[in-house]
Amino acid sequence: MAFAEFRGNKDIVDRLRGMLAREHFPHAVILAGPCGAGKYTLAQMLVKTMNCLSPLTSDGLPDFCGQCANCVRIAQADDLETRFAEAVEARDAMREADKKDTRIFVQTHPDVLIIPPDPPQMMIKVDQVRRVNETIRYLPGEARRRAYIFTEANFMKEAANALLKVLEEPPGFATLLLLAENAGALLPTTRSRSVTFTLAPLPLEELENDLAKTKAQWSPRQRALVARLSAGALGRARNFDLEGYTKARSDALALLNSAIQGGNHSALFQVTETYRAGAEGRDKTEQLLTTLYSLLEDFIFLQSGTPDLVRNTDILGELKKLAGAVDFAWVASAAERVAEVHSGMRRNLLRSLSLDSMATALEK
Ligand SMILES: [Zn+2]
Repeated sequence: MAFAEFRGNKDIVDRLRGMLAREHFPHAVILAGPCGAGKYTLAQMLVKTMNCLSPLTSDGLPDFCGQCANCVRIAQADDLETRFAEAVEARDAMREADKKDTRIFVQTHPDVLIIPPDPPQMMIKVDQVRRVNETIRYLPGEARRRAYIFTEANFMKEAANALLKVLEEPPGFATLLLLAENAGALLPTTRSRSVTFTLAPLPLEELENDLAKTKAQWSPRQRALVARLSAGALGRARNFDLEGYTKARSDALALLNSAIQGGNHSALFQVTETYRAGAEGRDKTEQLLTTLYSLLEDFIFLQSGTPDLVRNTDILGELKKLAGAVDFAWVASAAERVAEVHSGMRRNLLRSLSLDSMATALEK
């Protein structure tokens, strides 16, 4: 996969490649943008291009070969989710005493270090930034540039301050790439020492075009739905669990139907009955609640005369009927109930109980 495969934000991508061509790549770059907009994919492509052993040119700009030893080893971290899960698993298998002092990193090339947020808090911790500070001054061994990718911007306070020290005078051969959904989460002094590029979400049509190729098994209506639910994020769209969503949505609709049109409780409890025990039940309930939110939001779009913003376009007729039967105050209080169940789940209250009571409370 080379730059031709990267979707969207061509002007930004070209500017970054142009800086590589002129060998004026900033020592710290913030890639900002929504989840799934391609921040990590782009970061990996840039690091490969910096270090490719058989560098190519495309569109008159530097590109990477994808075949050389550096490209191949860096690409082993393309699947960040899997590498991250492996690192966490390896730590879980350690003795208690070692576990405490071990931080999560992903490293498939000796000169490229990937720093993900460390569980369970899912924050970047000071020991992770220390590792950067300890290694950054060594000349790269096999790459031309030593590269560090911070995959998220949620730093613990001490870690954020340690990062500032790294940014004070990094060596000329090192590059830091900071990925952030919102660059505002970084300290102002971090931002002023970096160059920020904000990736825009992809336009809906571009997402749908991509899905027509990568998800040919989906119908055009399904592709339109996924494009809307993914809010312009290609990664999210390609990995979208359409089956899970559709199932959760039909349960959410049963719940709303029963609440709005009254009637049959046993049908309703048959739905909530399937949301009981275990970790699987937890994920399923999460998905039901998220889906309920998205439907309630669509109600609001319909009621406020902005039907273009509706995401569940494939069931527009049914949504209009339901949204027409309730007023804005009902939707607002329903959203509040959903939020209550969500926070109850976090406090480990009985799920089925709170789902049942929510369903009952939603009744008009
Ligand atoms: Zn290469």
